[in-house]
Amino acid sequence: MPDITAWGGVGEIGGNRFLIREGSTQVLLDFGISFDRETSLFEQPFLQPACLDDLLKTRCVPPIRGCYRNMGRRVRYDAGGPAGLAGAPEARAIDGVLVSHGHTDHCGRLGLLRPDIPVLCSPTTGRLMALRAMAVGSSFDSLDTDVLRPTHPGERIELGTMQATCFPVDHSIPGAVGWVLETGGGKVAYTGDLRCHGLPEGRRATHAFQTELAREPVDYLLVEGTRLGTERAREEHQVESHALPDEESVRARVSEILRGEQELVMYDGPTIDLKRLCLVTEAAREAGRRVAVDSRLAYYLLKLGEDEAGLADIAASDDIHIVLPRRKLPSNSQSCPEAGESGVFAEVFDEGRGGAERVLLAGQRIRRATASGTLSRIEASAFQEAHIPDGRFIWGPRREDVLREPGQWLIYTTNGPLTCLHFMKEPGSLRGTYIYGKAEPFDLEMEFTFQRLQQWLQMAGLKMDYAHTSGHISRNDLAAFVRESGARCVVPIHTTAPERFETMHPNVMHLPIGEPMPLSFGH
Ligand SMILES: [Zn+2]
Repeated sequence: MPDITAWGGVGEIGGNRFLIREGSTQVLLDFGISFDRETSLFEQPFLQPACLDDLLKTRCVPPIRGCYRNMGRRVRYDAGGPAGLAGAPEARAIDGVLVSHGHTDHCGRLGLLRPDIPVLCSPTTGRLMALRAMAVGSSFDSLDTDVLRPTHPGERIELGTMQATCFPVDHSIPGAVGWVLETGGGKVAYTGDLRCHGLPEGRRATHAFQTELAREPVDYLLVEGTRLGTERAREEHQVESHALPDEESVRARVSEILRGEQELVMYDGPTIDLKRLCLVTEAAREAGRRVAVDSRLAYYLLKLGEDEAGLADIAASDDIHIVLPRRKLPSNSQSCPEAGESGVFAEVFDEGRGGAERVLLAGQRIRRATASGTLSRIEASAFQEAHIPDGRFIWGPRREDVLREPGQWLIYTTNGPLTCLHFMKEPGSLRGTYIYGKAEPFDLEMEFTFQRLQQWLQMAGLKMDYAHTSGHISRNDLAAFVRESGARCVVPIHTTAPERFETMHPNVMHLPIGEPMPLSFGH
């Protein structure tokens, strides 16, 4: 009988890793980071896992055989001689991974897997993961992009004895899909993360997925319930939520705030939610403001913007202003010639930078240096892989430009404290509004981060306001989705309140961690 094992993603928000087995065929649904587990044990920057073994022995990743690269082999250190290899490599036991979307709690641990396990994902998610891998650089857990198998919606892919098909859904990141997996006995559907209140195109996608499920009902529906847990926590602590019902309301609220503000406005948005960036940009342009984005967001926008519907306008019609944070790094910046030996270091434009900034700067430098050959090989290849369009982005505004005309700008940031640090000359020197547009804190870790942000805004002198809607399905939409899908059995995932599904469906299966549960298809 086929079975399913949850190796994360139950009783927690994130860490989605589900293994479905039928005979010798095994398929994984997502392979993400369990933030709950990892942040309870590790901390940036000094307490970090150094290798796969560290993650395995702390149970931050599951002990699945035939799943990880180089398993079964170990380095043998002979006295005096060179290191050798011992042990026999494990055989591959996983036929493929179905990835729902590019958030790291769903795909952040794929880099640990064997390179002969195909990773199926939407083309946009594939590009996003490849871009992230390039910006992050290499480490023991970096993703080898050769494993990616971009899959178009509706395309049926054979994995051993099973067939997998993906369907686009609405979520707070481009390229999100749900999956239907057909085994010999019956069908299992997996929602990944989804919602029904994004922009119309997204809503239509989630609705089409629901219709597809209803057309030929699945036996098991693995469905996310993020907001059931966060709503319960809010009820218990009597904390009010600032979340708005949908993306249109977010746009309207941003416009309203802009109408009442003559000074600087910053918008703190979810990372890589490019549709949100489009909405906020439209509202800012209407209000006569220019938008500058941080370099991380610019990097994704410039690459993904070309293909994602709705992003073409923002990426093509106007120049993209990129805020480049200041860097004064003694180790790799230039010292001021006038200072002689005393070590006064000048702010430098293009040294000592990593990640997305390095790739963007390489793109800029390639124009200056292609002919003269001063571009390093790594920079040239990073640029070529990123295909960053020539001449569409502008570095700046500088801090002085913004402070001279604060009412002319909206700074779109994914890192509020760092942006305050960059623009603030001294405590209380900024005037204006900071619009919080991310998920509201729902656990202790997020609560600390949020309190730290409030400290920063207080110090900078900015007022806080809110314009946000959740990336996850609301309780009412979820109840309708579960009902309309017609699934025989519902499996709660990605939630801290799985018991709340019991009011929505007569047949709920709760998965324990690490224990195979039989899938009885009943026909
Ligand atoms: Zn997500």
